[in-house]
Amino acid sequence: PLILGIESSCDETGVAFVRGTTLLGDVVASSVEEHVRFGGVVPEVASRAHLEALIPTIRRTCDEVGHSLADVDAIAVTSGPGLAGALMVGVAGAKALAWALDKPLYGVNHLAAHVCADVLDHGPLPEPTVALLVSGGHTNLLLVNDIASDVIELGASIDDAAGEAFDKVARVLGLAYPGGPHIEKAAADGDPNAIRFPRGLSSRKDLERHRFDYSFSGLKTAVVRWVEERERAGEPVPVADVAASFNEAVADVLTRKALDACEEYGVRDLQIGGGVTANSRLRVMAKERCDAAGISLRVPRVRLCTDNGAMVAALGAQMVQRGLTPSSLDLPADSSMPVSEVKAP
Ligand code: ATP
Ligand code: MG
Ligand code: FE
Repeated sequence: PLILGIESSCDETGVAFVRGTTLLGDVVASSVEEHVRFGGVVPEVASRAHLEALIPTIRRTCDEVGHSLADVDAIAVTSGPGLAGALMVGVAGAKALAWALDKPLYGVNHLAAHVCADVLDHGPLPEPTVALLVSGGHTNLLLVNDIASDVIELGASIDDAAGEAFDKVARVLGLAYPGGPHIEKAAADGDPNAIRFPRGLSSRKDLERHRFDYSFSGLKTAVVRWVEERERAGEPVPVADVAASFNEAVADVLTRKALDACEEYGVRDLQIGGGVTANSRLRVMAKERCDAAGISLRVPRVRLCTDNGAMVAALGAQMVQRGLTPSSLDLPADSSMPVSEVKAP
C-alpha cells in the first residue's frame, strides 16, 4: 500500500510517500527563517506558514514521485503533540483528503513517528528497542515494544528539552538561532573538559526518583552564571570552551541514561532520533558507549532526524501493515498527546 504522510506539528510542513519501509519521496517546507528574528518559533507565524505551504508541498511531492493522490491507499498525519494551531492545519488537510479520496486516515503520534523514521534507513525496528528522542521540544527515553501500538515512556525532561537548552545557551554566547549547529561549530575548536558543567538528575538522590528523566535547566543556568562571572571580571569569554563543555555535558547525560535503560530492561538495541541527533559529539559518544556495552545503535541520516513527513508516513505504513483500525474522521489535533497513545482513536 502507498501511504501519504503529512507533518505540521512545529515549523516544518512535511509531506512524503512511503511504501512499506521504502521512502519514495519527501518534501519539507520550513518556516524556520521567519522565526530567526524572534529567536524561537512563533506559533501564529508557523500556523500561517503551514496554511500557505501545505497544498503546494503536497503537489511538489506528487510531482517528485510521479504519483497522483488517486494512487494513495492511506493517509497518515501527525495528530500531536505539538503547537495546536500548527497541528490543526495538517490534521484538517489530511481529513479533507481522506474524505475526498475515501481512504483510511491514521492520526499518528509525532514522537513515535520520530522513532519510526529509522525504519526508512535500517528496516524494521527490533522489538523491544530503547529509543532516545532528542528534539527542539522533547527529550524522551522510550521503551518500544511495538512501534505501531506499544510505546512506553521510561523518562523525559522535567524542564527544558535538550534542543531548547542548545538554543538558550547559544543565545547567551551570542550565537544565532537555532543554536544547535552554531554551538557544535563553536565547540569544534574548544576543550570539552575545560569546564565541568552539571549533569542534570544524576546525583544518587535524584536517580532514586528520576532514574531515566532528564533536566537541562540547571545546566543552562550554570552556563549563564559562568559566562556572567567572566564578564563581570572583565575577562573574555572562551566561547569555544564553553560550547564544547556544554555540548559534552548534554551528550554525556543523554547517552548515559539511555544505556542505563538498555541495561535495566535487558534491551540490546538503542535507537536515537530528533533534531539534536545531528550533533556529532552525541553521535560519536553514543557509538562509543554502545560498542563498549555490546549494544547495537541505530541512528538515521540527519534529514530523517528533523521534522518531516516521511516519518509520519512510515509510522502510518506500520499501522496499515499490522491491520490496525484507522482513526476516526473527527480525530483531534492534540497538542499534548501522550507518547503512549501512538495512534489517535
Ligand atoms: P519537536 O520535534 O520536539 O516538536 P522541533 O521540531 O523543534 O521539536 P527538531 O526539528 O527535531 O525539533 O530539532 C530542532 C532542534 O535541534 C533545535 O533545538 C536545534 O538547536 C537542535 N539542533 C539542530 N542541529 C543540532 C546540532 N548539530 N547539535 C545540537 N542540536 C542541534
Ligand atoms: Mg523544527
Ligand atoms: Fe519533531
